[in-house]
Amino acid sequence: MTSEPVQPAERLRPETLAVTVGRPARVVDAPLNTPVTFAATYVGDHDTTSGSLGYGRYGNPTWQALEDGIGALEGGRALTFSSGMAAAHAVLDLLAPGSTVVLPYNCYLGVAASVDVRAAKDGWTVRKVDVADTDAVLAAAEGADLVWVESPTNPTIEVADLPAIGAALAGKVRLVVDNTFATPLLQQPLAVGADIVLHAVTKFIAGHSDALLGALVVRESDTELFAQLDAVRRSRGATPGTMEAYLALRGLRTLPLRLERAQANAQVLAERLAAHPAVLRVRFPGLPDDPGHARAARTMAGFGSLISVDLADAATADAFVDATRLWVFATSLGGVESSLERRRRWAGELPSVPEGLVRLSVGVEHVEDLWSDLAQALNSLP
Ligand SMILES: *Cc1c(COP(=O)(O)O)cnc(C)c1O
Repeated sequence: MTSEPVQPAERLRPETLAVTVGRPARVVDAPLNTPVTFAATYVGDHDTTSGSLGYGRYGNPTWQALEDGIGALEGGRALTFSSGMAAAHAVLDLLAPGSTVVLPYNCYLGVAASVDVRAAKDGWTVRKVDVADTDAVLAAAEGADLVWVESPTNPTIEVADLPAIGAALAGKVRLVVDNTFATPLLQQPLAVGADIVLHAVTKFIAGHSDALLGALVVRESDTELFAQLDAVRRSRGATPGTMEAYLALRGLRTLPLRLERAQANAQVLAERLAAHPAVLRVRFPGLPDDPGHARAARTMAGFGSLISVDLADAATADAFVDATRLWVFATSLGGVESSLERRRRWAGELPSVPEGLVRLSVGVEHVEDLWSDLAQALNSLP
């Protein structure tokens, strides 16, 4: 369905891949973009193996184009799902009763809650670790069936040493990396030993806060794992909508540009926030004194666009969030628009996360407008 890039994909840079992958063949009068295919079923044949699609729950050309794009950027083969959580559940579905799972303390809350439910039902042992502590991760991984890493972490923005973890676990324990915060542009976990990469495509890849989607990516050579995950998607039916897939691919085209601007904005804002008297602490690996700075500089191609700030307490953080006018008070992240929220407003958030912590998802607006709004909100605090 999709044409081969002009050069072998490995030789094209990510900015070029993001624009070129997942296009129809270049024939006269073909559209440049893979169309939205609304199809619950496809024309069949007596030989059920002749077509690769068969039925709407098994495949769709618009998902396929998006999968080609995400796969090319991560250096693997992608499967898309109806949401990041649906993708996460497909991974968890592969685990047998009695499994041992290593999970980050600061894990996406939906994933942590789902693991707890499955643990109670299926007798899983769950070992929670600080993913920034490589020795602790490796010790917990002894005899485990699955190690789940999220880095940078939510909402404390800590950085795991993925190359060290990947090298130590390769071929021994299945390693899943939730790469939502970093995107494939800042780190490619499959290249350093991860078996599965997960994306909440909803966030940076789609990038416009208008579509829910998820993806899993595995190595090209891991055909058996791919087939197992595909079988889960086929049977559970947590498939992406074709319009959503189209929107996400359209978003992917500009991911490198959006991330470049958002990261540059985040660096400036983090430095200014760190100098403001109302801010007790800024958590952003781009700051030289951040605990994750050296590791991120070594293992990632950039510091991302998520910042957390610690303010005095919940009331101060609530007043700050309410005083912003340009920044949107909203959960989620990775959109073109800057948003922020006090994380402990969620009942499920960890008690170790300070009450006054506000997570900022920096967007692509002009940095001076973003700063003016933050500064007036901070200066308005009692
Ligand atoms: C949002 C998010 C998810 C879940 O994705 P949904 O598309 O909302 O289901 C998983 N992991 C991380 C890190 C996320 O930010």
